[in-house]
This record gives sequence, C-alpha cells and structure tokens, in this order.
Amino acid sequence: MSSVIGEKKCSKCGGSMFYDFDCRTQEEYRMCSRCGFTQEWKLLRNEDGTAKLAEDGTWLWDYTETVGYGVVLLMPKSGVGCKYCLTGTLTGEERETVLQNLQAENMDSHSYAVLYAPESGTLTPLYGQMPGDYGEDEETAA
Ligand SMILES: [Zn+2]
Repeated sequence: MSSVIGEKKCSKCGGSMFYDFDCRTQEEYRMCSRCGFTQEWKLLRNEDGTAKLAEDGTWLWDYTETVGYGVVLLMPKSGVGCKYCLTGTLTGEERETVLQNLQAENMDSHSYAVLYAPESGTLTPLYGQMPGDYGEDEETAA
C-alpha cells in the first residue's frame, strides 16, 4: 500500500487539515483537527471489489463531506490517542462528559476540545490548547 499523508489548510476555519491519499486507488480522506470538517472520496465498487466504471470508462466516485461542530482529542499518557469530530452542537450533558474524559488523571496535556459554530465560523476552545492556524503550529509548539 502506498499513500501520501500530510496536512493542508482547512477551507472552513483555516486550521490544519490532515489528509491521507491512497496513490493506488486515488481515494482520499481529509479531516480538520480544529473545526472537524471532513471530506472523503471513495471509489464505488462492484461486489468483487473492482471499481465501478461510468459509460465512458472512468471511475465512479462517492464523495461525502461533513460539516464539523468541533473536535475532541483524547490523548492518554500511555497508549493511542483518539480524535473525533463533533457532528452537532453538544448538549450541556454531553459537554460535561467530554470535560470529564479530558480531565481524567491518565490524560496527557496535549488533549483538547474545540467547539465550532459552522453558521458563524466561530471557534470556542472548551479545554486545553486549541490548535493554531495552518502553518502556525511550529511557532506555538514551544
Ligand atoms: Zn477546519
């Protein structure tokens, strides 16, 4: 498997968007680590796994994008972190649960939560250090 992994500027919030591009299938997945905007290009496949073709012989694609309502990164001191995009406004109760998870003793200080309001484009840090604009992280990391 060969894929290209990198970061680009998020078109929604100007934050840093992670992408993973599969060179063989040309499928791609992108996710913003700040507002939670995701984009995904997947090949439409036949049951035997081969790509579905249009009448003119080109590959058929399934494109989905999801507007984010923020991102939560749970990074335990040991083990693998978990980053997930919020797909709606948090209720007060959900917000409490997120905060409790982030404040757990085994959590690393890199954990964070950001809320994003797609209508107004407003970013609200909920917990920890909110990721900076794309390209700024190196300067603020120190
Ligand atoms: Zn974004």
